[in-house]
Amino acid sequence: MNVLLVFAHPEPRSLNGALRDVAVAELQAQGHQVKVSDLYAMGWKPAADRTDFPQLPAEARLNVATASGEAFKTHTLTDDVRAEQDKLLWADAVILQFPLWWFTMPAILKGWVDRVYSYGFTYGVGEHSDKRWGNRYGEGVFAGKRAMLVVTTGGWEEHYSERGINGPIDDLLFPINHGILFYPGFDVLPAFVAHKASRVDEAGFEGIADRLRARMRTLFTDQTIPYRRQNHGDYLIPSMQLRPELGDADARGFALHVEASR
Ligand SMILES: Cc1cc2nc3c(=O)[nH]c(=O)nc-3n(C[C@H](O)[C@H](O)[C@H](O)COP(=O)(O)OP(=O)(O)OC[C@H]3O[C@@H](n4cnc5c(N)ncnc54)[C@H](O)[C@@H]3O)c2cc1C
Repeated sequence: MNVLLVFAHPEPRSLNGALRDVAVAELQAQGHQVKVSDLYAMGWKPAADRTDFPQLPAEARLNVATASGEAFKTHTLTDDVRAEQDKLLWADAVILQFPLWWFTMPAILKGWVDRVYSYGFTYGVGEHSDKRWGNRYGEGVFAGKRAMLVVTTGGWEEHYSERGINGPIDDLLFPINHGILFYPGFDVLPAFVAHKASRVDEAGFEGIADRLRARMRTLFTDQTIPYRRQNHGDYLIPSMQLRPELGDADARGFALHVEASR
């Protein structure tokens, strides 16, 4: 199978760099083809702006969604963006790897999403009617592919537990897992998280590396997160609210969008 690993750490000799090498080696040992987009090493341009749309007339007001849709349709996206889109289409599974910075992904990776996820490619796709609300949340260009986050945090596991001060890690990662990965169709695997990463010694590293190798071995067989699919009856259209009879009565927020079981 084909695996794309998008790597967002500025230092190749970092813990993240070492874990990336572990993941790539294990995937290759399993017979998979692996491509790595090392965003800092590539000098990835992180901000979406006017220079992304060289065809846009100088006097035209920039609307990023409209311009990206037009550029996608007319094959005039910049080469760096097209190359990443091609890698995504090539991949059977996509891994986003990053250290948690200010409770989310580093800006360079967010910028990769902003620029690579063109209108017409990952959003603004499909029929909008009283039965469907576009191809998204379980449908879309990446349907049939898997995706997974590999994340390190400075904080402890307890800090990210249900009652931890940072908030539960699954809640913090929800906008990425559900909003960035599930939205355009990926089946999303539970994230691999290494906590207390700033204080890892050699023995600690071996433990994390073993855990990561095991996850790489089951990348294509592990159960994915059972997010509710948008166009399969669970949501009212067009309000996009979960039907009142669904979900635990006391569930709130993100938890409502995960089925207790498939
Ligand atoms: C801007 C910023 C914002 C942050 N925000 C948050 C936040 O919101 N929440 C949070 O929890 N944390 C936060 N952090 C902390 C951050 O998540 C951690 O610093 C990061 O996850 C550690 O990963 P690293 O790859 O950078 O580790 P490194 O600093 O490269 O390494 C960590 C430790 O691993 C050791 N190590 C052991 N074996 C190896 C090996 N084989 N190769 C390399 N190193 C090894 C290193 O010696 C070092 O002690 C933030 C940090 C920054 C810079």
